Amino acid sequence: MPITGDDAQRYYRHLILPGFGEAGQECLRTSRVLVVGAGGLGSPAALYLAAAGVGTLGIADADAVELSNLQRQILHGTPQLGQAKVESARARLHGLNPGVAVIAIPQRITEANAQSMLADYDVVLDCTDNFPSRFLLNAACVRLGKPLVFGSVYHFEGQTTVFDARRGPCYRCLFPDLPSEAYMAERAQSGILGAVPGIIGAVQATETIKLLLGVGEPLIGRLLLLDALTMRFREVRLQRQPDCPLCV
Ligand SMILES: [Zn+2]
Repeated sequence: MPITGDDAQRYYRHLILPGFGEAGQECLRTSRVLVVGAGGLGSPAALYLAAAGVGTLGIADADAVELSNLQRQILHGTPQLGQAKVESARARLHGLNPGVAVIAIPQRITEANAQSMLADYDVVLDCTDNFPSRFLLNAACVRLGKPLVFGSVYHFEGQTTVFDARRGPCYRCLFPDLPSEAYMAERAQSGILGAVPGIIGAVQATETIKLLLGVGEPLIGRLLLLDALTMRFREVRLQRQPDCPLCV
């Protein structure tokens, strides 16, 4: 179906982009992407995916917008304080691109709901901020054979990669066991420079679009590390671990 009318203008810079074009835009329109976590990482990721024209965007988050979120969670604004993050996200993303179907999922990921929450999506973004959720998302993605676009931030640092157990390592190859409670508590409440998740979340959106279109070289088996203080990116090779408790 040729892209005409407003969409021809909206997506003009994609349509003239070598390697993208009408076929790429149509591919995004028929794609379903789940963003788990509507916070610092999920904000830029969801905004770029909606702007790009991903046809169906699931947003999962159980929290409400708090004042301390707004320093980095750019999906939400001051008038949305106290609203469910998924409702704030749906309104913002609909305003950005009414052609995108935004599915608000006001739930925390659990052992019981993980598989059904992910089942209908092509690509899943891990934009959560805690280890138990990452473990659950990874396990569900390995079981369902779906790619998981991972991001995390801490202080002035960020990390991102793509886990796809069909083509490379999974999250448990990197972190076989849950860290100590003390470590997890410290990470959950750490300081974060607000723009750092902006960078990492934008990388996650870029990797997602690449996976959907099948273009370029995905970040599979490569962990991209950002140190914003020196503004250096570094890349670490990740390998599937033969003793991984999950994916082997
Ligand atoms: Zn593994």
